Amino acid sequence: MRLKDKVALITGAANGIGLATARQFANEGAIVVLADVQPEALERAQAELAARGARAEAHRMDVTDRAQVDAVVQRVLQRHGRVDVLVNNAGITRDARLQKMTEAQFDLVIDVNLKGVFHCTQAVVDSMVEQGRGVILNASSVVGLYGNFGQTNYAATKAGVIGFTKTWARELGPKGVRVNAVCPGFIATDILSTIPEKVLEQMRGNCWMRRLGAPEEIAKVYAFLASDEASYVNGVALEVSGGMTL
Ligand code: NAD
Repeated sequence: MRLKDKVALITGAANGIGLATARQFANEGAIVVLADVQPEALERAQAELAARGARAEAHRMDVTDRAQVDAVVQRVLQRHGRVDVLVNNAGITRDARLQKMTEAQFDLVIDVNLKGVFHCTQAVVDSMVEQGRGVILNASSVVGLYGNFGQTNYAATKAGVIGFTKTWARELGPKGVRVNAVCPGFIATDILSTIPEKVLEQMRGNCWMRRLGAPEEIAKVYAFLASDEASYVNGVALEVSGGMTL
């Protein structure tokens, strides 16, 4: 119960890594606030957690829409008085080689993966600073560390998120707020659904554990970083890839 009574807002929580993180946090005693743009999946996720006796609430929230983000954060603050943990997990891909990438593909990925993280963090940060503690966790990627074919937009956002993390760790560390990023390798979720099986096979081959990761394996790392066990961990971009990049 490392997260007992912690109020945790998780974006993109209706599926994949976000949902696994919501389950993990709930198992560890957190009050989980799920936010996502997919209302039906969100409702399913909330119902599943509630059925297990978890304290979970769901909000339709598009991280690109600052007014929506502010409104959800205000509701959470009114109801619970604080946000202890923010997991900036929502993310998308719109892949194309540089020569083929449209401006719309570029802008959409920047809006969700980069500007969305800025919106959500700015919306919660004053309350964290006021209470003198808080944890912000950002979803980066090995792609942000090393680049990836066909992912000009995505790689830029995931590298940008590391820039956010290191900057905010400096700005907020002295105020009791820790900020860290997680850089997963390739994890079996819907985000990989557009990748051909042949390429997935290559990804497995490139990983020294010869398999994709499971969403739960990232969720457990978020739970550790969110907990007091990581009380002196600040400003890191932690690669969790089964040794993919060795
Ligand atoms: P996923 O597609 O399974 O889930 C992403 C969730 O984000 C979805 O529920 C989606 O509805 C939500 N979302 C999308 N746009 C949103 C918006 N504007 N506002 C709010 N929610 C929105 O993906 P995933 O694999 O679980 O990825 C989660 C995060 O982890 C992403 O940031 C992704 O870039 C990152 N990541 C994933 C992998 C991987 O291999 N799966 C690897 C590295 C990093």
